[in-house]
Amino acid sequence: MTRTVYVNGEYLPETEAKVSIFDRGFLMADAVYEVTSVLGGKLIDFEGHAVRLKRSLDELEMAEPCSKEELLEIHRKLVELNGIDEGLVYLQVSRGSDGDRDFVFPSEDTKPTLVLFTQNKPGLADSPAAKKGAKIISIEDIRWGRRDIKTVQLLYPSMGKMMAKKAGADDAWMIEDGHVTEGTSNNAYFVKDGVIVTRPLSNDILHGITRKAVLRMAEEAQLKVEERLFTIEEAKAADEAFTTSASAFVMPVVEIDGVALGDGTPGPIAKRLREIYLEESMKEAI
Ligand code: PMP
Repeated sequence: MTRTVYVNGEYLPETEAKVSIFDRGFLMADAVYEVTSVLGGKLIDFEGHAVRLKRSLDELEMAEPCSKEELLEIHRKLVELNGIDEGLVYLQVSRGSDGDRDFVFPSEDTKPTLVLFTQNKPGLADSPAAKKGAKIISIEDIRWGRRDIKTVQLLYPSMGKMMAKKAGADDAWMIEDGHVTEGTSNNAYFVKDGVIVTRPLSNDILHGITRKAVLRMAEEAQLKVEERLFTIEEAKAADEAFTTSASAFVMPVVEIDGVALGDGTPGPIAKRLREIYLEESMKEAI
C-alpha cells in the first residue's frame, strides 16, 4: 500500500513527496527527529516528544516549523489516513536550504523542512522479541559530544547495529571512558539485588522519554533506582538487564558479550516494568 506522508504542509502519496537536494538535513545531517509510538490507534507520550523536539530545536537555534497543536493534528491525520493501529510516526525537522551548499547557516527567514511518515508495525506491544529478550555486545562510543540533542546523525548507531548483527547479537551498548553510555537507539539499565542502575542524564546520552516514564513508574512501584555511572563488567554480573525506547518500550536483555544474565531469560523486573509501562502509557495515549 502506498503511504500518505506529510511534507511542508502537504499530505501526499510517498512516491510524490519531494525535498530539495540542497536541504541541510540531506547534506549535513542538520536535522532533528522524533519517533512516536501508536498503540490502539493512539499516540504514546506525544507531550514528551513535543517537549524534547522543542529542546533539540532550541539547542541548535533552529526555527520551530509549526505549533505543538498543529504537530498533534498532523500526527493524528497521518495515523488515520494510513489506518495505523500499532506502529510509529517518524517526524523530522531540518534547517532547510536556501538553494546551495554552504557550511554557514542559511538566513533566518529560511523555512525549516518538516517531514512526517508512518510505519505500520502490527504486534509492536505483544512483541516476540521482548518475550525472548535481546543479546547485546559492547562497542566503543565514538559519537559526538551532544548526544542529548536528537539529531539524525545515525551513522555510528547504524554501524553499531551492524556490528551486533555480524556477531550474532541483536544490539550494542556503547562504552566511553570505561563506562556504559547507552544503547545504539535506547537507554541502558541493569538490575542487581533488586536495585535498578542507569547512567544519569548529561550531554553524553539522549534524555529518553521512555526512561523518564519508566523511572517514575519504578519508583511508584517501590523499586529502588540508582542513577550512576556503571561498567560493562557490572552489567555482565547483574541479575538482569534491559533497555528502554519509545519504539520498543522496555526490552529485556538476556546476554551481554556472550555472558548469559541470570537464567538467560527475561528477568522479572524488566517484564514487570514492560507491563506497567504499556498499561499506563496506553491509558494516557491521545
Ligand atoms: N538513546 C538513543 C541513542 C536513542 O536513539 C533513543 C531512541 N530515541 C533512546 C536513547 C531512547 O529514547 P526514547 O525513550 O525517547 O525513545
